[in-house]
Amino acid sequence: MLLKILLGVLCCVGALATENITEQLSPPQLLLVSFDGFRADYLRRFPMPNLKLLYSQGVLVEQLTNVFITKTFPNHYSLVTGLYAESHGILASNMYDPVSHEHFHINNDSNPMWWNEARPLWISALDSGYKTAAMMWPGSDVTIRNRTATHFLPYNPNVTFKQRVGNVTKWMLGDEKEKGAMFAALYWEEPDRSGHIFGPDNDTAMSEVLKEVDDNIGLLISELKITGLWGRVNILITSDHGMTQCSAQRLIKLDNCLHPDNYTLVDLSPVTAIIPLKDPEAVFKLLDKCHEHMKAYKKPDIPDRLHYRNNDRVQPIILIADEGWTIVRRGDKLPRLGDHGYDNALPSMHPFMAASGPSFRQGYRISSLQSVDIYPLMCKLLSVPPQPNNGTMTHARCLLAAESCWDVPLVIGLVVGVLLLLTAITVLFRFLSSRRPPGSRPFQRLQVDDDDDDDPMLE
Ligand SMILES: [Zn+2]
Repeated sequence: MLLKILLGVLCCVGALATENITEQLSPPQLLLVSFDGFRADYLRRFPMPNLKLLYSQGVLVEQLTNVFITKTFPNHYSLVTGLYAESHGILASNMYDPVSHEHFHINNDSNPMWWNEARPLWISALDSGYKTAAMMWPGSDVTIRNRTATHFLPYNPNVTFKQRVGNVTKWMLGDEKEKGAMFAALYWEEPDRSGHIFGPDNDTAMSEVLKEVDDNIGLLISELKITGLWGRVNILITSDHGMTQCSAQRLIKLDNCLHPDNYTLVDLSPVTAIIPLKDPEAVFKLLDKCHEHMKAYKKPDIPDRLHYRNNDRVQPIILIADEGWTIVRRGDKLPRLGDHGYDNALPSMHPFMAASGPSFRQGYRISSLQSVDIYPLMCKLLSVPPQPNNGTMTHARCLLAAESCWDVPLVIGLVVGVLLLLTAITVLFRFLSSRRPPGSRPFQRLQVDDDDDDDPMLE
């Protein structure tokens, strides 16, 4: 009987130890949340207490340099692939593929051909034996490379944030039949939708919208607390792009420059994609001098820094409006008071990133990061081998608790401090030496002086 009890106890201890080891080996689950069109400086302009609570216990990247063009679909696909738009193939909200002759629009995006140039994290993490989930993230309801996330729901703007969060936490928790999702992505349309309607400079309207966004973050935190996921999972909150104010006084009318019979329009504003139909050189010349606030590029001349040239879906001519300018065909009607899509070097186009959880440092912030760096960071968090990508861990690893990372300003401060201290000691020493009275000269030196014929005292 005693032997049986002893064996039972040993078995229990063994099982507990195995469970602990498995738990230690398996990384924490990861939840990626995007609030569409969350311009980086909204964080400074509006209170956002729930978001601040989250990153005060974790990390904040004040500005993310996103990818060109600064639109929703290209940037959401970059976040989960680590690729520039030219490499993942989702180049705009409206595209034309000259090889297949297919047209793409964000409301008609389910042909896998458009998405198959890359492999988003919710697909590649399946190969590590993980369950994954993607809630209304652009591309998540498309069968990419013959697969989808384990759990997803097709895009439906009528599904509330609370309902989306409810589903995501359920998928992350799993049940007796299925393990919880290791990686989940969650998408929400605001503050983008209101930013377009009111314009980002409308403080009154945007403060209400940002309060709702922050309330939703509060709701997410409390749902994670209720389900016991808070503190156990890593959570990363970010966005795809910012927003800038537009005006009816800043319209660029294409019909004023050339007749519409000369070209096919693939995408309009603020980056216009054009296929010339007659004499491409003449079409380009007319567009090139069309407006002082719009730049025209032939495809081979698109600047390298935009990473927006090496893909068949980039059209022969693109036009880029200056910040706040809107390209239209004709008329005086401004389509949107706020817009995005402009040059990704503009701060107004940049979003932010905040993260919290067991793998992140606490109370740490950096001023900027490339948005393509988030993908390798997430792969590291999940121990998933990254697919080839344009990102790097050089800066992103500083956000992690387990990584030792040089704080460059602190190191420079310390070096300068030590140098200043050494200089001060040297100056003080020289000063004291020069004030020493002649009688107190060192004995050694006195002896040498005695033997010196040139000493004026002996003359
Ligand atoms: Zn938008």
